[in-house]
Amino acid sequence: MQEILDDIAEVMSTATERGQVADYIPELAAVNPNQFAISVALPNGQTYSSGCAQQLFSIQSISKVFSLTLALGKLGDAVWNKVGREPSGDPFNSIVQLEHEQGKPRNPFINAGAIAIVDAIMMGHEPKELLAEILQFVRFIANDNSIAIDEKVALSELATGHRNTALASFMASFGRIEHEIPQVLGTYYHQCSISMSCEQLARSGLFLVSDGVNKSTGIRVVSSRRARRINSLMLMCGHYDGSGEFAYRVGLPGKSGVGGGILAIAPNKASIAVWSPGLDKIGNSKLGTVALEMLVQRTGWSIF
Ligand code: GLU
Repeated sequence: MQEILDDIAEVMSTATERGQVADYIPELAAVNPNQFAISVALPNGQTYSSGCAQQLFSIQSISKVFSLTLALGKLGDAVWNKVGREPSGDPFNSIVQLEHEQGKPRNPFINAGAIAIVDAIMMGHEPKELLAEILQFVRFIANDNSIAIDEKVALSELATGHRNTALASFMASFGRIEHEIPQVLGTYYHQCSISMSCEQLARSGLFLVSDGVNKSTGIRVVSSRRARRINSLMLMCGHYDGSGEFAYRVGLPGKSGVGGGILAIAPNKASIAVWSPGLDKIGNSKLGTVALEMLVQRTGWSIF
């Protein structure tokens, strides 16, 4: 495994087409695009890495997997009254479908859906209480209490988040948002601004590898049925309107974020995190996807 990861990192170090860093969030625009990391966490607790796998980055939309998991724990199937579970075929921040579908987001991984999930799990609590709960959950699944939120990124998103404000207001116009919009969005931005390294991120996905149990700690996080369902949503919706392309090229459930990270799950095999800040036109990590494609070719881990 170490040899495979070193080979991949070596190829990535010479790549010239690295994509563009997300520039609509000023803090992310400042990230050096010439970085790459990959980590593979195995259920037995071993982790293999190559590249700058200890370097912290903004997990952004990968956090939506964790907030969905929390929401399913709190609300069960009532989550599906708030959001759908169909691929959107639209960009991550699109407003178009919302009008046709009376303000109900297609799935929990597009921005509108993730904002609706935050609203659903707020349940009258203060934003800081909910944030503490989300952060606590991420620390628990990654088995790492050092994980924290990058306040600068959160404030940077807040300052430029006009489109997310529009999405939340539009949903509110259909009576679909229960809390004050600034509170919901403030919580959403802080959730997206959790910083993690590839090693931490890979470990955080272990519960999705082994039917809901993190075998490295022996702790059951969700039921096996729920783990399967979260994986299926990641496969169908985890890369926005690039989800079909990702399934075609990589063949694993995966969730990307505009910080350039991707969390991918090879069921019963491994949890994989890759990071390279340059994005393709859709907003998914360009080299991260290529790296996963190479890893799957070498390991045969595609689910198909
Ligand atoms: N916080 C980002 C936003 O709301 C998340 C987008 C992403 O990672 O795809 O725009």
